[in-house]
Amino acid sequence: MRLIFLGPPGSGKGTQAAKLIEKVQVAHISTGDILRENVKLGTALGLKAKEYMDAGKLVPDDLIIEMMRQRLQKDDCSRGFILDGFPRTVAQAEALEKMLNELDMKLDAVILFKVSDEVVVERLSGRRGCRQCGAIYHIRFNPSLKGDSCQICGGELYQRDDDREEVIRKRLDVYHSQTAPLVGYYGKRGLLLEVDAGRSSDEVLKTILDAPWGRSE
Ligand code: AMP
Repeated sequence: MRLIFLGPPGSGKGTQAAKLIEKVQVAHISTGDILRENVKLGTALGLKAKEYMDAGKLVPDDLIIEMMRQRLQKDDCSRGFILDGFPRTVAQAEALEKMLNELDMKLDAVILFKVSDEVVVERLSGRRGCRQCGAIYHIRFNPSLKGDSCQICGGELYQRDDDREEVIRKRLDVYHSQTAPLVGYYGKRGLLLEVDAGRSSDEVLKTILDAPWGRSE
């Protein structure tokens, strides 16, 4: 199974990818997670990426493409992968196509997570994460039973710098101008499957698993 999850920030791509890999043994590759890990570790890539991320802008294509070139060659990708948050520009999609040709791999589908901007703002501005164990909460839809602390490990809950409302709006602008053209790009290649990402998470998962590549695993 080789899938791309395409959609605005907050459309549930990461949540669905996490659920899917409980059912099928494929690699979940989130470029946002890899970048955040690099920022945390203070690597050269992390230092370069941080200012873009905090401003809600895309990290330059050459950095992302090189990062993904290395990631796709790791052993765990041989059974398949879900790309979550990549590609985000046409240049990245073209580079991916080339990389996959070189690796003799074929994409099964591109899942488009459709959701309105207002739902995204509501979901993301209320999102909180645990600094210690990474658990994710929402102040309204899924609050921690321990208030500002994680109900699993007691760690401190925090809001990502890029989940502030003004940054979310910027990230949405970037999505509409730079990433949405990929809908046409993959549509032309017959790879696109649209899902209504405003529905419940279980319904979205079912749609993905009911597709031919979901059944084949
Ligand atoms: P995410 O967690 O996927 O929303 O990503 C968080 C931030 O990381 C984005 O707002 C971008 O600054 C950066 N980022 C993640 N993936 C990419 C990508 N494929 N291309 C450029 N920047 C990215």
